[in-house]
Amino acid sequence: MTSYATTPHVRDDHATDHFSGIAECHECGLRHEIDRLAPGSSALCGRCGSTLLKIPVDSLDRSLALAAGGLILIVIANTMPFMSMKIQGLIQEADLITGAIALLKQGMWPLAAVVAATTVAAPLLKLGAISCPPQHLPMIFRWIEMLRPWAMIEVYLLGVFVAYVKLIDLATIEIGLAFYALAILMVVMVAIDTILSPELVWAEMERRGIVTVPKAAPGESLVLCETCSLVAPVAHHGSPCPRCGASRHWRKPESLTRAWSLMITAIILYVPANVYPVMTVISFGAGSPDTILSGVEELALAGMWPLALLVFFASITVPVLKIIGLSILLITTQRGSQWRLRDRTVLYRIVESVGRWSMIDVFMISILAGLVRLGALATIEPGIGAIAFAAVVITTMIAATCFDPRLMWDAAGERS
Ligand SMILES: [Zn+2]
Ligand SMILES: [Zn+2]
Repeated sequence: MTSYATTPHVRDDHATDHFSGIAECHECGLRHEIDRLAPGSSALCGRCGSTLLKIPVDSLDRSLALAAGGLILIVIANTMPFMSMKIQGLIQEADLITGAIALLKQGMWPLAAVVAATTVAAPLLKLGAISCPPQHLPMIFRWIEMLRPWAMIEVYLLGVFVAYVKLIDLATIEIGLAFYALAILMVVMVAIDTILSPELVWAEMERRGIVTVPKAAPGESLVLCETCSLVAPVAHHGSPCPRCGASRHWRKPESLTRAWSLMITAIILYVPANVYPVMTVISFGAGSPDTILSGVEELALAGMWPLALLVFFASITVPVLKIIGLSILLITTQRGSQWRLRDRTVLYRIVESVGRWSMIDVFMISILAGLVRLGALATIEPGIGAIAFAAVVITTMIAATCFDPRLMWDAAGERS
């Protein structure tokens, strides 16, 4: 067992912040003995290079301060006007939640739910959880880990930007206070992700007696908790984690079957997502439907090349690359291939993290539908293609989560 720790600076006055124990790599499954990892340093997996553990300096105090600030920002973002639009003397205002409500009114409840969950509910739960009373912490921290990929404020803001550019020729647009609050909130959320070390939070809960972690007897079989990263003895298959309560498995159950079936669903949905209109712009009584591709074309024809390229990349290239990337991972794993294991692990990391950016178009549509509601003069209605497209993004995201990259290493190991 090898461990590689980089140590920019070691401070011995924070002895309780040091981490010692067993860590298992989430991506290749290799176990590491870590001895006194100091604050301000991180440990990398010696086999695949992924980050095993990071111990930021003063992690808990700084995260708590940021979360409190974030909660204030989220209140401002949800109560103040977000954007307003003026066409021929008519003014239409929109709040953050207006987009979701407008979608709901138009019968597009699946889209409304996705927009509300990723822009309001997930960030709110995450910030609220960090500043929560300690007795509920284990359950809440489990939720934070599970919600991590679904808070998409940064993607939403990019969607706002695309919507803004599309409208600027038609109307006068004013940006409200809520927009600025959301922009700062995005920075706060990124900062929390960097500063907050779940490992230290669990250690603190252990110290206060909120959770108890059993010591492993020598020779006892251990399993990694995918949610809180604890490596602990396991009584039986699927038995709950002693620290966070999530059910644990040696490897993600039915990983390949689940990933394949979600992928095939995504491939099928990809057709209606591109064929049917994602929205219809009605101006002066006449409607013109837009598909994803025609939306990109429109941006390009208007001379907005960088934005056209961005939307093309996020909405068309990323889903296709994700489907191809996941297929490569699944096929090579099933064949027990030893080909470029480390590169394939990096491919998995990319596939897992890039998918959320495809939501730009979905968010843009929700903003346009929420803002442009001026009857026959100008109205934007979301189309059925948008639901199919959001479903493609979500099914590929879940497929990536279902795939267990450790299986690649297991399968290659068995063959050698
Ligand atoms: Zn590894
Ligand atoms: Zn756990």
